[in-house]
Amino acid sequence: NFRCRSAFKLLEMDDKFRLLQPGHSVVDCGAAPGAWSQVAVHRVNSAGTDPEVPCGTVVGIDLLHIPPLDGAHFLSCHDVTDPTTQAKLLELLPDGQAHVILSDMAPNASGFREMDHERLITMCLSLVDLAAKILRPRGSLLCKYWDGILAHKLQEKLSSVFGSVQTLKPNSSRKDSAERYFFAKMYRKTVKR
Ligand code: SAM
Repeated sequence: NFRCRSAFKLLEMDDKFRLLQPGHSVVDCGAAPGAWSQVAVHRVNSAGTDPEVPCGTVVGIDLLHIPPLDGAHFLSCHDVTDPTTQAKLLELLPDGQAHVILSDMAPNASGFREMDHERLITMCLSLVDLAAKILRPRGSLLCKYWDGILAHKLQEKLSSVFGSVQTLKPNSSRKDSAERYFFAKMYRKTVKR
């Protein structure tokens, strides 16, 4: 039983692209009420349900409260873009590193399509800074955005640090919504000099 229908979108994308592997460390941004984390816990085996495969890690973050879930660490009432949240992530992740960053984050909709689009793109751009702190070399990022004039800016920024960037529209996402996902993989970690 999933906490939210959004689980089916992640299941569909993960079935196709296999981004969540047993043993992986995953950060779930905008995790409340926790459906994506449920999928991630299952796929990376962070509750240790399958003794035959490695045990992974799932850390979920949200501004809202996230009800507890076996196999996940939750940072409720935390802002993903806040440096103190990022410091806590470094402590919770094995070696301070994640294989995958997921983001289903969304701002509270204002009802003005352009404004909501811009705010979500700004949030997604901040994930590139988060990646620089915690994402492993060759790691991946899956983030939701609402399509619009600034989508190409996000795509360019992702392409500058990831080997490949694809746009996804899962079948379980309503056809008439502007909702899309960027799936970026093969992270190129830049060494700070
Ligand atoms: N993936 C979730 C699930 O499957 O249960 C649903 C996520 S919901 C569509 C979007 C969430 O993003 C909201 O709960 C919202 O509070 C959160 N959010 C928005 N801005 C955020 C931020 N700056 N930091 C953390 N969470 C944020």
